[in-house]
Amino acid sequence: MDVNLSTKAKITWCPGCPNGGILVAFRQAITDLVNDGKLKTENIVALGGIGCHGKITDYLNLNTFTSLHGRVIPTMEGVKVANPTLTIVGFSGDGDSYSEGVGHLVHAARRNADINLFIHDNQIFALTTGQATPTSPIGFKGKSTPFGSIEPPFNPLLFMLSAGATFVARSYALDIAKTKDVMKAAIAHKGFSFVDIIQPCITFYDTRDYFKDRVYWINENEPKDNLAHAMEKVQGDGSDKVPLGIFYRVEHPTFEEQLYA
Ligand code: SF4
Repeated sequence: MDVNLSTKAKITWCPGCPNGGILVAFRQAITDLVNDGKLKTENIVALGGIGCHGKITDYLNLNTFTSLHGRVIPTMEGVKVANPTLTIVGFSGDGDSYSEGVGHLVHAARRNADINLFIHDNQIFALTTGQATPTSPIGFKGKSTPFGSIEPPFNPLLFMLSAGATFVARSYALDIAKTKDVMKAAIAHKGFSFVDIIQPCITFYDTRDYFKDRVYWINENEPKDNLAHAMEKVQGDGSDKVPLGIFYRVEHPTFEEQLYA
């Protein structure tokens, strides 16, 4: 069945921005899930935060909502609590949810809200033209760190595992096929699904060449239900390589199940 997820809105991302890869992957994921009879488009709510990523809701022919800066997660939780039958997908950025909204992130993970969060992680505040975020590397030079950042970045996957997220994954925006697969698995998971998607900002921090040589997919047969193993895997192999894949997936009662029990 042809699922029309496009809108008439003009795409205003910089030409070639890898946000487009995330958009295409998500449209493909939803199309597959609808065609497989697992989802109905009218039951999906897609929400965005503030940042370049937030434009994605304009480009999706779904029920959509744009929240305040750093507040996409509580908005997602509110929609889910109001109507637990809906499938909630939120798009956010590293500035939006690792900086402003980090408090909401940790609580959504620990209470296992049944929502899906896809982070467009470009390691900067891109909409405001290039300030450091919690995932910017040491030495990053931008508008707020002209002499180079002296703050070590945090590992959002390790953070989410520690906080109790029941689905933790990382993908790469320029690998659309794999990103689609990870998104489908995240949406199929019952509980808090967290996916960090590395998304180079080609205008203010072009990391395409850096990641091209460093990203790798972990073996699909790695155990997914072992927290200690996942915590080890998300930290890579001790080199500067960057692991991708689904690291952790376990079933626990969701917040909404317990709320309405
Ligand atoms: Fe994409 Fe960066 Fe342009 Fe924003 S500023 S649209 S993240 S390339």
